[in-house]
Amino acid sequence: SCKEQHNPFALYNDALNKHSVVRLSLMSQLKGALAEGQLELHYQPKLTIANDKIETLECLIRWFHPEHGFVPPDDFIPLAEQTGAIRHVTQWALRTACEQLKQWRDKNIYFSVAVNISAIDLVDLSLPASINSLLNEFDLPPSSLTMEVTESAVMGDPENALKALNLLRDMGVSLSIDDFGTGYSSMAQLKKMPVDELKIDKAFVLALATNQEDRVMVKTLVSLARNLGLTTVAEGVEDLATLEFLREVGCTKAQGYYMTKALRADELIAWYETFTEQ
Ligand code: C2E
Ligand code: CA
Ligand code: CA
Ligand code: CA
Repeated sequence: SCKEQHNPFALYNDALNKHSVVRLSLMSQLKGALAEGQLELHYQPKLTIANDKIETLECLIRWFHPEHGFVPPDDFIPLAEQTGAIRHVTQWALRTACEQLKQWRDKNIYFSVAVNISAIDLVDLSLPASINSLLNEFDLPPSSLTMEVTESAVMGDPENALKALNLLRDMGVSLSIDDFGTGYSSMAQLKKMPVDELKIDKAFVLALATNQEDRVMVKTLVSLARNLGLTTVAEGVEDLATLEFLREVGCTKAQGYYMTKALRADELIAWYETFTEQ
């Protein structure tokens, strides 16, 4: 229709949903797109609830395609995981995050950054060594990086994944379980994972202010984590009532649109300056 023709997003979404050709062509373009600078890392703060400080940011990838416009990560990350192209994405994200951390540290801004890591990255046992060489190259302490991994990323090949996670942990890199409570969760698996932080999926957080079951769930997850010696991050915090509930139940950190969406590095610093003045 006429409307679709004038809306690049609708056109793109239709095309992507209907035609595997578009998906395949996106995948064949991904490596070149990374080299050409079509992808950016944006940064979303994690608020430490007890002291109202921002110490950690999660980096989230953004693809601005010359023809298709903005391609959401949920539309190409799963594909890239299937084709193996995710390795290039992860290497690029790690390098870009380290470069950014170095630039900030040179201006006396000491954030740490959490990077999303996929299953394929974990079974490839070269990941810990490549992270180690990036830390050396940019003169960064290992504690300035967190790896966010999902439980399902570990389930595929638990032996190698746990080996990689233990190597990273021994190096001093922080580890976080992403999307906790969705999909394939098992208490046995959780016990074996050498992690520091548990991220409560936004599916449990978005409706906290009004949904009694979600409140019970989040309260229980926070106490489970605490009893295992883990800190907690709630993602998808969109309002003050949700933040106050998280404070009440002792959740460690909050992430979400109530603070800010993910921003470009320069926008993030501008936001942070206003935030710290308050
Ligand atoms: P995720 O790791 O669970 O990231 C959280 C998602 O929630 C992000 O979506 C973020 O923008 C969104 N979000 C944050 N706060 C709120 C909020 O208050 N309300 C709502 N409704 N949403 C919020 P995004 O950026 O679209 O990323 C989607 C997924 O794509 C991520 O989920 C992650 O699995 C994947 N992803 C993004 N960047 C990367 C990357 O560099 N590498 C890998 N492997 N995966 C990535
Ligand atoms: Ca994440
Ligand atoms: Ca998540
Ligand atoms: Ca996710």
